[in-house]
Amino acid sequence: MNDAPAPQCVICPRQLLDHETGRYLCTLCEHRIDRDLREIAGPSGLYARLCLRIQPGQRGGDGPAVSSSPGARTPVNEAVLSLTANGGIVSTLETWVEDWASYGLGVHGTGGRLQHRVDQAVGTLRRNLGRAAYRHPALDEFAREIGQIVRQAEAIINGERQPRQIPVLCPCGTVRPVTLNTDGFTCRGCGIEYGHSEALRLPLAERRAA
Ligand SMILES: [Zn+2]
Ligand SMILES: [Zn+2]
Repeated sequence: MNDAPAPQCVICPRQLLDHETGRYLCTLCEHRIDRDLREIAGPSGLYARLCLRIQPGQRGGDGPAVSSSPGARTPVNEAVLSLTANGGIVSTLETWVEDWASYGLGVHGTGGRLQHRVDQAVGTLRRNLGRAAYRHPALDEFAREIGQIVRQAEAIINGERQPRQIPVLCPCGTVRPVTLNTDGFTCRGCGIEYGHSEALRLPLAERRAA
């Protein structure tokens, strides 16, 4: 009998099951990444809805447009601009497309308008995600960046602040702020790795006396 522990998903603390042998991540995490990607693209996706926020005078929008009159830029508008411009979401996606292409996972897009480039990059990544699960060692980094795009975009669209940070205490004494949708973290103090649910089970750190 072989007592070696089954390999673990690179993203969550789950042990890979027999039918997941040879994969870097579990099927649940793959589905979550696919769902995140799907939410970004398309005419009613997060990217398109973010773009609506910077077009003044847009009729029939699903929320108040952010004023873009000169000198009246709100911090939200700055955030929207940096996410929607070249160098923002589209470049994060295209950098991954390029990276995956070097693993034989899809090919570069053909350019065009930003929305088209976003849709094209998401389409390429989704089509290749199933094979990347077996072939790409940095899926944890990929999942983190894609998840971050979704959370930032949703926070702006829903008019929410960034998720509240909660300081938790590792048994080694290190305090670390986490959010309710943390992907987990590696403790700076002792190097222990915590997955999402493990991180949220840690005791709250007491607030330091002022
Ligand atoms: Zn997983
Ligand atoms: Zn620790």
